[in-house]
Amino acid sequence: MCVNRTGGSYLVGSDGHPSPWFAVGMSNGADGVGTAGGTDGRDGDAAGRLFAGPGEMRALCRALDWAATPLGPVEEWPAALRAVAGLVLAAPTAMVVLWGPELVQFYNDAYREVMGAKHPAGLGQPTRECWPEVWDFNAPLYEGVTRRGESFTFTDQPLVVERHGRREEAFFTLAYSPVPDDGGAMGGVLVTVFETTAQVRARGAREEERERLLAESEAARARVTATLESIGDAFYAVDRDFRFTYVNHRAEELWGRSRESLLGRHYWTEFPQAVGSVAHRHHLEVMAGRRPAHFEAVSPVIGRWVDVSLYPDEAGGGLACYFRDVDDRRHADAERERLLREAEAARDAAERAAAAAAASEARYRMLFDSIDAGFSVVEVIFDAERRPVDYRFVEANPAFAEQTGLADAVGRTARELLPTLEAHWFEVYGRVALTGEAVRFQNGSEPMGRWFDVYAFRAGAPEERRVGILFTDVTAAHVAARERERLLAELSAERERLRSTILNMPAPLALLVGPEHRFDIVNAAYRRVSGGGRDVTGLTPPEAFPELAGQGIYELFDRVYETGEPWSGPESPVRYDRDGDGVQDTWFDLHFQPVRDAEGRVVGIFNFAVDVTDQVRARRQVERLLAESEHARADAEAARTEAEAANRAKSEFLAVMSHELRTPLNAIGGYAELMEMGIRGPTTAQQQEDLRRIQTSQRHLLGLINEVLNYAKLETGTVHFDLADVPVRDAVLGAELLVAPQARSKGIALAVTDCPPGLEARADVEKLRQIVVNLLSNAVKFTDPGGRVEVSCARDEAGVRVRVSDTGIGIPADKLEAVFDPFVQVRSDLARPHEGTGLGLAISRDLARGMGGDLAARSTPGAGSTFTLTLPAA
Ligand code: ADP
Repeated sequence: MCVNRTGGSYLVGSDGHPSPWFAVGMSNGADGVGTAGGTDGRDGDAAGRLFAGPGEMRALCRALDWAATPLGPVEEWPAALRAVAGLVLAAPTAMVVLWGPELVQFYNDAYREVMGAKHPAGLGQPTRECWPEVWDFNAPLYEGVTRRGESFTFTDQPLVVERHGRREEAFFTLAYSPVPDDGGAMGGVLVTVFETTAQVRARGAREEERERLLAESEAARARVTATLESIGDAFYAVDRDFRFTYVNHRAEELWGRSRESLLGRHYWTEFPQAVGSVAHRHHLEVMAGRRPAHFEAVSPVIGRWVDVSLYPDEAGGGLACYFRDVDDRRHADAERERLLREAEAARDAAERAAAAAAASEARYRMLFDSIDAGFSVVEVIFDAERRPVDYRFVEANPAFAEQTGLADAVGRTARELLPTLEAHWFEVYGRVALTGEAVRFQNGSEPMGRWFDVYAFRAGAPEERRVGILFTDVTAAHVAARERERLLAELSAERERLRSTILNMPAPLALLVGPEHRFDIVNAAYRRVSGGGRDVTGLTPPEAFPELAGQGIYELFDRVYETGEPWSGPESPVRYDRDGDGVQDTWFDLHFQPVRDAEGRVVGIFNFAVDVTDQVRARRQVERLLAESEHARADAEAARTEAEAANRAKSEFLAVMSHELRTPLNAIGGYAELMEMGIRGPTTAQQQEDLRRIQTSQRHLLGLINEVLNYAKLETGTVHFDLADVPVRDAVLGAELLVAPQARSKGIALAVTDCPPGLEARADVEKLRQIVVNLLSNAVKFTDPGGRVEVSCARDEAGVRVRVSDTGIGIPADKLEAVFDPFVQVRSDLARPHEGTGLGLAISRDLARGMGGDLAARSTPGAGSTFTLTLPAA
């Protein structure tokens, strides 16, 4: 950010350099003056008309002395500038037009914010003076527009702005277009500025959010994958067609197959031996019934017992499977069963044949020592209320220490070995000792940190209260099962988090899954733009939006799904039923982002759809306005050319006619004079009188024709001015001399009252005299006998003024301007029409202006009139 010398601020590109193509300042929120100033006498009407209406800029334009700017007085502005100025003032968007070779700034209310501290001084100022700090960058751009008629648009330019008292990054879309002058040459540059910060920020936030979501779901996936790889169980997942979508490392090991050789392949073709097996039946049931199954069976693939858990995979429509080799345990179980039977048999034998005890004991001991399941015999200890409170180890086989971690147990009680052992162990063994009913159960022991699969039975006579305990350590299996539950819970929590993040995002976002692109997750913002409050969840795009058929949008989903390439379409036209009241034209920033699974396959599409209809409509309106103003300009141009041609034709006609009339009139005068002088013979007194009347009429007519001719000359621009430093007093006295007889004969006092001898004006002396004569003869003509006519001259800051005042009939206020129009005479119903053409004042004013001066009138009807001629001083 830079600060210019006047203390205002302007924008720079976010790279820190002044923007090469544009420079604006931001006001700190303070509004400029909004009061309309007084109107300048001369510009008043033209400016008042063009700038009529509300708003600060119109008020400033009315108050500004345009004559002091390079654009000159408003009434002299070309029609094109007026048209574009009207357009700029009426436009709701920020606009500035840079007009003429000096690129003078003319801007509207919305653009004030852009001007910042440079407002209001910048109105009517050349842009180079207003923005010297960025002129080097802007100059070539303006050159491109004005010299080559090029248009430029800069979309979403990032700029650092200072406004509302702080620095912030904002975005603007800027359009530069050429505006032709009346003659078709380049008149100026029209710059339109839209702030697009909100849209750009929304887009950025959307992108970030999407990135974050993708990263998050990626991380969740990675975590799940890592877990699946680290657990001891084999794991695989298949889709609804039983094609492998995931195979973990343990499964690879068990099957002896690499995952690469399985992924994407059909389960039953890869493992044909499994078809028809128990596992096959369970797989089909889970897939169809969508309920989990748990079973143990001999795997037809590896020929060993496996423990299998099958779960339907709700998201993908397939199923997931955990399994592990329990062949060893199965065999141990079988062995154990067998041993137990044997033990029973042994016990029976022991009971039956006490005599054979020694032999049996030896055999029993051998058996007892040889099995790898833990085995012990305990004697349960009861308290006085026959509640089991402890038990003493009577026997333990070698595997006992391995399975329990307890050494030298025999002879000691459980409480001695494990003071915090849970009461349930005493209870269950106490029950067995008392009832004689064998039990089988699984249970854990906190102090031992293990889980056991236990078979307990009464050993020996009831009163001995002995219990035989056969058990295996199943801690590993138990932990694995717990872990599996935890993982599944975690997976579904992650899934839920993703869903709620999407649902709560402010940008319209939907997740579509599968090759049919069914809407899976649709957030509230997306639902709002879906139109008519429809809920599209679970539908395919053609079901959700049937009116989109034929617009190529369904095909976009297919394309993104098939190619895996994201697709973005800013301001894509979409015809659909947005508001529930029929199909309409809308525009959307569309984005399709493929969603992939762990193997990188596309499984869904994120669809972002931001409604930018209002933005697009606003821009189109500006374009339409521009085109309309162009038409209006062309029409005005044509009308003007036509009017000028007509006027020229009229003036030429007058010039020719007047000239044609003068020749015969001169002949009439000449012959009348010859007769009057008696050259054609003697004449009577009556004839002499007639001849004088003829001559008077001839001179009058000639005077009228000369005036018409003069005016026509002025109009056709054929009058030539010989400018010199003219002594004003001489010219005034010369004129007075010519009118004096007329005044005298009418009884009117005519005087030059005050006119310093040294006063000189820059003028054509003949034309000056002509104007004064004309004013004096009017004064005499419209003043009754006994009245007074005065001429004075003076010098002031505006130049030299010559005043002619009379005490005549005066001019009504509403006619004061009209008397300067050609052929206008003020009619008084009381008096008969005065002589004259109504051209004198029109000619006089044209002559005055032709010399760089002006002619104006003031009057009080009934009291007199004053005509003031202004001329540049010498
Ligand atoms: P003309 O005198 O030939 O009619 P001008 O253009 O000189 O044409 O004047 C236009 C009209 O302005 C006159 O017809 C008259 O009505 C009015 N006018 C001009 N000068 C005076 C004056 N000094 N006092 C009153 N009315 C005047």
